[in-house]
Amino acid sequence: MNVPQAPVFAANWKMYKGPVETRSFLTAFQGSYAPREDATVVFFPPAVSLSAFALEAKGRPDLEFGVQDVHSEVEGAHTGAISASMIPETGAGWGLAGHSERRREFGDDDALVAHKLMRLLAAGLQAVLCVGETLEEREAGQLDAVLSRQISEALHPLSVEQRRSIVYAYEPVWAIGTGRTATPEDAAGAHALVREKVGDALDPVGAEQAIILYGGSVKPGNISDLLGSPGVDGVLVGGASLEVESWAAICNSGR
Ligand code: PEP
Repeated sequence: MNVPQAPVFAANWKMYKGPVETRSFLTAFQGSYAPREDATVVFFPPAVSLSAFALEAKGRPDLEFGVQDVHSEVEGAHTGAISASMIPETGAGWGLAGHSERRREFGDDDALVAHKLMRLLAAGLQAVLCVGETLEEREAGQLDAVLSRQISEALHPLSVEQRRSIVYAYEPVWAIGTGRTATPEDAAGAHALVREKVGDALDPVGAEQAIILYGGSVKPGNISDLLGSPGVDGVLVGGASLEVESWAAICNSGR
C-alpha cells in the first residue's frame, strides 16, 4: 500500500455505473485527464464494476480504485455481502467505511464501522473513514461531540500503526447531494476538529500528517476554494464525479 499523495481526488459513484458504463466513462476520462504525480485520483465504483474498472484502467496505474463497503466478517453465510479479503484480487487498493449513507440506510454504527475498518486494513487496503454531523446535530452544537465519538470509536480497536494509515473524509451530512456546500471557513474549522480528534487517538505528529478529505456537493466551481482551505487535503465527491467533464475539471484543479 503506497502512502497517498495529497491532494486526493476521490470519486464515490454510489449505486451508479455498471461494468459497461464504467468502461465507457474511463475511456473518455483518460482523454481528459493526464497522469499527475502531485495528486492521487481514486474511484469507488459499485463492487460489481471493480473488475471492469481494472480492465479498462490497465494502462493507467495512476487511476486507483476501491470498494464502497465490505462486510464486518471475513467469510460466512452472509448472502449478498462482500468480504474485504476478496477485494485485492480485483486489483482494487482502497475501501470506504462509515459513509453517512451506510450509517443511515444500513445501520452501520460506530462499532460496525470499526470492524469494517479492521477488515479493510487486514486485507491490505487503504482505508478511508468517513465522519460528519447531521444538520440537527450541528444546530444542537454537537459537532465536536459527534466527530469525537465517530473517530475515537472507529479507531479504538486499531493499533497505532493502523491508526496512522487511515485517510479521513469529513462529510457534513447536510451537504451531501444537497447542493449545499460547507463554506471554506466551515470546512477549515471542521477539519481542524477532525485533526484534533485524530491527535487524541494517535499523537500530534500523526494528526499533522493525516490526510483529511472534504465531501459534500463539491463541484468544479468550488474546488479551488475548498482545496485552499487550511487542513483540506483533498475531496470525496459524489454527484460531480459521475460526469467526465466535471470530474476531470476537479481532478485537473491546481495543475
Ligand atoms: C458523497 O457521497 O460522499 C458526496 C460527498 O456526495 P456529493 O458530492 O454528491 O454531495
